[in-house]
Amino acid sequence: MGRSLVLNASFEPLAVVTARRAVVLVLKEKAEILESNGMVFRSEKLAIPAPSVVRLQYFVRVPYRARASLTRRAVFARDEWTCQYCGRPAENVDHVIPRSRGGTHTWENVVAACRRCNARKENRLHGEIGLRLRRRPYVPRDGLRLSLGRLEPEWEPYLARTNGHKRAARVAGNGRPA
Ligand SMILES: [Zn+2]
Repeated sequence: MGRSLVLNASFEPLAVVTARRAVVLVLKEKAEILESNGMVFRSEKLAIPAPSVVRLQYFVRVPYRARASLTRRAVFARDEWTCQYCGRPAENVDHVIPRSRGGTHTWENVVAACRRCNARKENRLHGEIGLRLRRRPYVPRDGLRLSLGRLEPEWEPYLARTNGHKRAARVAGNGRPA
């Protein structure tokens, strides 16, 4: 049924949830539908458009976060789902300096990698096996956008409002509205 962008009552983007979960928010009158993805959610008693963007009916305070959360999804988004060694589609997250050799689990030491490069590297440094990094891994600035993963076209107008914001969304500590 797809995914749904959740906006705060103030229209600030907060998180992405499954469209099914967004429907539950709407049915509980915790959120209103702003955009639909064209599909219809049906149960025994009702049929409502599957939401693509919902807005909470109440305001959620979003804690300020200086750094984007280091998640698998965010790493893939930063690296555009591309292996940073060979350019193929990425499937794994690779530690540039392997953890077994003291590498840290930080933005500056993780990259998206294809299974092949990841397996080739194992506990070695890329330079030791002739791999080159396409660009140095960096701490991304737009944490919220990255935390959303792949963007749906209907979301763009709502995300444009937050360009430049450094805060990333997280509701109730787990990325989902309570
Ligand atoms: Zn690769």
